[in-house]
Amino acid sequence: MNRTRYTELIIMIMSVLLSVATFSGCGKDNEVTDGAFVIEEDTNVRYAEKFQSEVLSEAGIISDEDGLLHLITIDEGEDMVLCYDPNCKHIPATRNRPDSECMAALFVERTQTLYYEGAIYFFVQDGIFDHKIYKMETDGAGRELIAKLPFGYNITQCALFSEDKVYYIAKIPYENELTSTIRFGVRIVEVNLLDGSYRFVCEETKDLIMQINLSGKTLYIRRAGAEDGGIYATRVNIDTLEETILVTAEVNGNEYAYVDAYDEDSFYYYGKQTYDIGIRNVDGTVEKVLIKGSVGEDFGWADPSCDGLFYNRTYDYEDEPVGSYFMDFLTGKVINITDEKVKYGIVGYDGYYDVFVAHDDEYNWTLWSKAKILDEATTAD
Ligand SMILES: [Zn+2]
Repeated sequence: MNRTRYTELIIMIMSVLLSVATFSGCGKDNEVTDGAFVIEEDTNVRYAEKFQSEVLSEAGIISDEDGLLHLITIDEGEDMVLCYDPNCKHIPATRNRPDSECMAALFVERTQTLYYEGAIYFFVQDGIFDHKIYKMETDGAGRELIAKLPFGYNITQCALFSEDKVYYIAKIPYENELTSTIRFGVRIVEVNLLDGSYRFVCEETKDLIMQINLSGKTLYIRRAGAEDGGIYATRVNIDTLEETILVTAEVNGNEYAYVDAYDEDSFYYYGKQTYDIGIRNVDGTVEKVLIKGSVGEDFGWADPSCDGLFYNRTYDYEDEPVGSYFMDFLTGKVINITDEKVKYGIVGYDGYYDVFVAHDDEYNWTLWSKAKILDEATTAD
């Protein structure tokens, strides 16, 4: 992505970031008008997986490019290397020179970055058997090693921060004795950002872990079974580590699927026969139907976040889209944003920052303010 592209990006998100400063999106402090749906999602849980290599933060957009970490500032749109040494030439690390002097240089081995509470976290894979986490304040100099962990990781699929912890997928290597090849099992690991200690919060599995959500003491895990590929969900009490099946994956038997956490004891679901979307208690009873389904239309997917729900409908048994919608929990209104989804390439919604997340065909990520998208959709009607 070049400088021009960044300038465009900055112009696009200017309005977004005004709302970032106020952190207006999420939590129990929202002003709720009469009859509106009260959202009670944890304010301190954030999702990083949506932004991947470009991360929105209070400080700006954080991006790894050409082996160096960049910050694109909010007010000026200035693209700067995240290194505060005026004499540094900002030379990236290479395999021959792995220890670059530049504090913005990413590590030679596989590095991924996440942002949380004013700091960037570098996940660095040293080999297949261990990785490290470094922390770097966006307004400071240098980075510090905060954890060294004896297993691999995957933060692309799912990672989330909560209070002083980060949760993500640990890849546990084991040897297949018949073939002498290395295989991986996965577990969810909780790393304490303050002292670098860790513990596993679920049993090792060969399932594909697709999504994790945390609300209070409950960690929800959406997964595809290694044996049958069926998608199901479990919940873990992170105090007792007791794990129970939340939604089974019997091919014809289950009436509904897990979508996302709502609170410790309830979750968003969609009905596989009714096509409703709503909230169910963990015992399976319906607490609230948010959106009634219609015959012949399925939910393609749904993305609830804080104060709103972004969802797609498809024709039954096909992936053909019918339309894309946003339900504003504060007003209860459903707004058709199909045109805006197509125009901007919207793929998700993050209510914490009040933004729609979009990318183009080349996966250049862009964030659009909720206000802009909904204004355009409403004006067009
Ligand atoms: Zn430098």
